[in-house]
Amino acid sequence: MNLELSAEQTAVRQLARDFVDREVAPHAAAWDRAEKVDRGIVKTLGDLGFLGLTVPEEYGGSGGDHLSYVLVTEELGRGDSSVRGIVSVSLGLVAKTLAAWGDVHQKRQWLPRLTSGEAVGCFGLTEPGTGSDAAHLATRAVRDGDAYVINGAKTFITNGTWADVVLLFARTGDAPGHRGISAFLVPTDTPGLERREIHGKLGLRGQATAELVLDGVRVPAGAMLGPEGKGFSVAMSALAKGRMSVAAGCVGIAQAALDAALGYAGQREQFGKPIAGHQLVQELISDIAVDVEAARLLTWRVADLIDRGEPFTTAASQAKLFASEAAVRAANNALQVFGGYGYIDEYPVGKLLRDARVMTLYEGTSQIQKLVIGRALTGVSAF
Ligand SMILES: Cc1cc2nc3c(=O)[nH]c(=O)nc-3n(C[C@H](O)[C@H](O)[C@H](O)COP(=O)(O)OP(=O)(O)OC[C@H]3O[C@@H](n4cnc5c(N)ncnc54)[C@H](O)[C@@H]3O)c2cc1C
Repeated sequence: MNLELSAEQTAVRQLARDFVDREVAPHAAAWDRAEKVDRGIVKTLGDLGFLGLTVPEEYGGSGGDHLSYVLVTEELGRGDSSVRGIVSVSLGLVAKTLAAWGDVHQKRQWLPRLTSGEAVGCFGLTEPGTGSDAAHLATRAVRDGDAYVINGAKTFITNGTWADVVLLFARTGDAPGHRGISAFLVPTDTPGLERREIHGKLGLRGQATAELVLDGVRVPAGAMLGPEGKGFSVAMSALAKGRMSVAAGCVGIAQAALDAALGYAGQREQFGKPIAGHQLVQELISDIAVDVEAARLLTWRVADLIDRGEPFTTAASQAKLFASEAAVRAANNALQVFGGYGYIDEYPVGKLLRDARVMTLYEGTSQIQKLVIGRALTGVSAF
């Protein structure tokens, strides 16, 4: 792997960096307090091409490789994880999955809108009774003539109240576990689909997270994404690349923690000198820096494997596991550097820690990543 970025990759990273410094980072604390990012940001993300990365240009995408996607995601994560999450879900989990599994009609119907930011997508897998054990989800879609009628409930759905379309997973047959699941593209204005925002999150407060209730939701048979009974494969293919995106967001959090810790340690004085001159503060800072670099290299490696057409699933779990735990450690170490001021939300590190905390939970908890990696290494499934 060549670690030197191409001219295009450098340019897209600079574009993202400038955008984040100008239009995201200055508002992140206010959006966090208001529990709402400015919705206008979605259109701007689309105009900049950030919602179409890796999606073919014929469907309105901006093309580009996965390393470019990672570079942009890292920058967004540095500025505000709530904004990063909009892209990771609407592009990463929905548009990219649609581009991989959709027929021409489905791609024409949704991709230009999703990549331009005119529409937002959400990913409906988790249910109140099934999180890690998604293969046993209970939402059911029953065939009725040339349509399916869907009943069930989803929870913790990122972008849920903002989204125009849900990539929804439901049971279509009597086959047990993952074999009975199919994927559907469900417009959120379909009668019978109700959405309720979940408030009181520890972090990612600017992001719209929702419960979805489906009561007799009727969609045409053509709304099925991929073959019947292959919905779990659709979901897992989305999450494999999604884990790379979460890892990149975590690199951004850790980088923001490093930047904040360095800035503060240089100007805060105790015992007659800047705290940066105390060896144990340097230890905190160097631990953050090593976490940033290690998480970044693991994440870039996943992008490189994807771009070269190599298997990447285990590498994505490794990157997600390490980067998410590293982001929590880095934000916690940065808070330590800030002392008591780190505990007050006037300073940025408390939010970094709150935002980082979910990264070890969603898109597969750290325990689930270890089982995925363990299965790949031993050939034995512990699920
Ligand atoms: C802010 C937020 C946003 C989210 N966004 C989305 C979204 O957009 N779409 C979506 O579908 N979901 C989303 N989720 C859901 C998320 O993916 C789940 O919360 C996650 O998969 C864990 O499921 P659970 O919360 O039900 O925990 P559980 O599965 O109940 O796990 C509880 C604990 O048990 C452990 N555990 C479970 N099984 C095992 C095992 N076999 N071996 C060892 N330990 C185990 C887990 O690691 C965890 O520590 C989101 C969640 C949050 C908090």
